[in-house]
Amino acid sequence: MVGYRSSRLSKIGPYFFSEFNRRREELKAEGVDVINLGVGDPDLPPPEHVLDALANAVRDPRAHRYPPFGGTREFREAVAIWYRRRFNVAVDPEREVLALIGSKDGLAHLPLAILNPGDITLVPDPGYPTYHASTIIADCDEVSVLLRADRGYLPDLQAIPRTLAKRARILFLNYPNNPTAAVATLEFFEKAIAFAREHSILLVHDNSYSEVAYDGLCPPSLLQADGAREVGIEFHSLSKTYAMAGWRIGIAVGNANAIGALAAMKTNVDSGVPWAIQQAGIAALTGPEGPTRDRVAVYQRRRDQLVAGLASLGWHPPRPQATFYLWLQVPDGRTGQDFAKDVLDLTGVVLTPGIGYGKEGERFVRVSFTTPGERLEEAIDRLVRAFGTTTGQTYDLAMHSRQPDDST
Ligand SMILES: *Cc1c(COP(=O)(O)O)cnc(C)c1O
Repeated sequence: MVGYRSSRLSKIGPYFFSEFNRRREELKAEGVDVINLGVGDPDLPPPEHVLDALANAVRDPRAHRYPPFGGTREFREAVAIWYRRRFNVAVDPEREVLALIGSKDGLAHLPLAILNPGDITLVPDPGYPTYHASTIIADCDEVSVLLRADRGYLPDLQAIPRTLAKRARILFLNYPNNPTAAVATLEFFEKAIAFAREHSILLVHDNSYSEVAYDGLCPPSLLQADGAREVGIEFHSLSKTYAMAGWRIGIAVGNANAIGALAAMKTNVDSGVPWAIQQAGIAALTGPEGPTRDRVAVYQRRRDQLVAGLASLGWHPPRPQATFYLWLQVPDGRTGQDFAKDVLDLTGVVLTPGIGYGKEGERFVRVSFTTPGERLEEAIDRLVRAFGTTTGQTYDLAMHSRQPDDST
């Protein structure tokens, strides 16, 4: 049955995680205490001063009116202040800043705003699924750019055939990276800018995790690199930085032409970010940074807890320097999908199969730590019970499932 589904939508494919979610819901219905290490959805609340700003704003008459397209002047100025404070970069709040209904809004609409049907985008594999989906929705074609461990999950831009690079219009980048947790240096961005210049490509940098970094690391902005605003646009999310995922607010900053096109596109699609949410965004961007540092310290402790717990199982994902994800190569060469299914059935712990981020993710799972420490402890206990602690032991589901307690 074709029904009302467009060919565009059909091409994006069924939502990968839906089957997996069904199994999770089944287990829940059976009374299993499911521990979800699948989603990257901050569990700690936004800072108190941000909650106060929102509470005050909803009683202001301005909250009930349509907000200005593209964000209030005050919000865009707050973004400029934050860019100056955090990255020492000056941006023009009028022409180089745009408020978004989450960074996903901007990422999803940008190809529609600047590309023509048949244009090519360069999409990282593995990568956040919206880069792929937005390409298809705009009737464009994607070419995968592989991210591999031996290059620190940075794309090898020189390996992209020149004829292809000449035809490409967008290159999506995302560092700190979801799902691999890789980080990029300013030198990498400089190389990407040279590549973009040479081939007239727009660099689209998704910097959603710039503030979720550990051990004192301060991930850079693309706009810190020379010439970035001639060829680049950068997205930020208040979802991850301030745990405001449910509030839907994000930012685009960079090339004034691209910002203008995206803003024009969006005037046809939505009517802006609710005014009260923008007021909360201003409080978040210009207010005290202590709460954000405290939250990151919690994530860092969880990271260490999880890395140590998995090591006791003989599993050794790299210790992430940023994001709240571990990118774990599945033991024994199985697919991430099989592995995640077994882990779910045996332990009630949800991991995300890497294939959801592209073919290169096939032999990986993503483990998220937006879950309290006690629950992480419980998840590790269950994994240890199911899989044993012998370092380097071959993962063998049949063996483990043949040792139920009821045999004694
Ligand atoms: C979470 C996430 C987003 C979406 O963030 P919103 O601002 O909530 O829309 C975008 N990109 C990446 C890589 C993400 O992980």
